[in-house]
Amino acid sequence: MSIRLPILSGGSPPEHPNGGGGDRLVDSYGRTIRDLRLSLTDRCNFRCTYCMEPDVRFKRKVDLLTDTEFVRLVHICAGFGIRRVRLTGGEPTLHPTLPELIADISAVGLDDLSMTTNGSRATPEDMRTWKAAGLRRLTFSLDTLREDRFASITRSKTSVATVLRAIGDAVASGLTPVKVNVVVVRGFNDDEIEDLAAMARDFDVDMRFIEYMPLDSGHQWEMNKVVPAGEILERIERRFPLTSRGRERMETPAASFVFADDGPGRIGVIASVTRPFCGACSRLRITADGKVVPCLFSHDEWDLRGLLRGGVDDDQIAVALAGAVWSKTAGHRIRHDDFRQPDRPMSAIGG
Ligand code: SAM
Ligand code: SF4
Repeated sequence: MSIRLPILSGGSPPEHPNGGGGDRLVDSYGRTIRDLRLSLTDRCNFRCTYCMEPDVRFKRKVDLLTDTEFVRLVHICAGFGIRRVRLTGGEPTLHPTLPELIADISAVGLDDLSMTTNGSRATPEDMRTWKAAGLRRLTFSLDTLREDRFASITRSKTSVATVLRAIGDAVASGLTPVKVNVVVVRGFNDDEIEDLAAMARDFDVDMRFIEYMPLDSGHQWEMNKVVPAGEILERIERRFPLTSRGRERMETPAASFVFADDGPGRIGVIASVTRPFCGACSRLRITADGKVVPCLFSHDEWDLRGLLRGGVDDDQIAVALAGAVWSKTAGHRIRHDDFRQPDRPMSAIGG
C-alpha cells in the first residue's frame, strides 16, 4: 500500500511503502532509524559563534511542544524500535520542567537516554536529580581551555572553570561515559587540539573533535575554516600515540581511539564534512517546535505539531513519521557546488 501523508510542510510528501505500519522506520535507501535526537528548546544562554548569532530569534513558547507532546512522540518512536534518545537543543537545561520530562521519557522504556549541554547550569544536585529520573549519560561542549577565548566563542559570562567543574561532577555522579564535544574552527581554537585531547586523560572522558559544519545562523561557515579530522588526529598522535577502536556501532559518527599507553579517556573524531558517514546514518531529529528534520542539512521539514494538536491518533502520527523518514536524502552535499546551507541553524535543529 502506498500512502499520501497529510499536513506536512516542505512540498509534496514522499510515497513510502510501509505506511508507518511496520515495526521499524526505514528510509528509501534502506537505512533503519535507531536513534532519536529530541530538541527540548531552541533557546540558549550562549551564542556560540559557530552556531548562533546574537540577534537570533527564538520560537514563541506556544509553538514549542509541551512535555505531553514530547513524551507521546517518544512513545511512538519506541513503537518503531527506537530505544536510544538524546535530549538536546538549544540548551536543554533551560527547559523549565527538565527532571519531570526526563522521568516521563525514561518511563517509556529506553536502552539509552543522554543529554548534550553547554555545562553552564548543571550543578551536582541537578545531575543527581537527572540521574534519579533516568538520565544515563551527559555530553558537554567545550571548545577552548582559555577563558578569553571561551568568552569570545560563547559570548557568555560563564567561565571555562564552571564547565570543567560540571564535567568533573558528571563523572563523579556516574552519568558516564561522559563525552565532551569540541568544534574545531581553523584560526580559532585549532592550536588547542593537543591540550583539549589531554583532557581525556585528566578527566577520564571521551573528547570528541567535530569538524565545523555549515549550520551557523550567521552563515559565516567556509571550507577553509574546517580542520579535517585527519589533521586533528595527526596532531593528537604526535603528542599521544593512539590505538584505533573503530566505531562503537556501525552507525556511530565518531571514529574512536584509546591511548596507546593505556592511559584513561578516549578520543573521537567526527568527520562530518571531509568523510561523511551518511551511508550509515540511523538518526531522526525532532525539533522543539515539532518538525521532523530527516537530516541536519534538510531543506524540507515535516510538521508533527499540527498532527499532535489536530486530534489525530498515534497511528496517523506514525504514518507521518514513516513518510518523513522515507524522504531522508542519501547524504549531504557540503563539498558540492550545488550545496545550499539550510535556513535552520544547528541550535534550532538539535545537534
Ligand atoms: N547547547 C548544547 C551544547 O552546546 O552542548 C546542546 C545543543 S548544541 C546545538 C549540540 C552540539 O552541536 C554542540 O556540541 C555544539 O558544539 C555542536 N554544534 C553547534 N554548531 C555546530 C556547527 N556549526 N558545526 C559543528 N557542530 C556544531
Ligand atoms: Fe547554545 Fe549549544 Fe549553540 Fe552554543 S552550541 S549557542 S551552547 S545551542
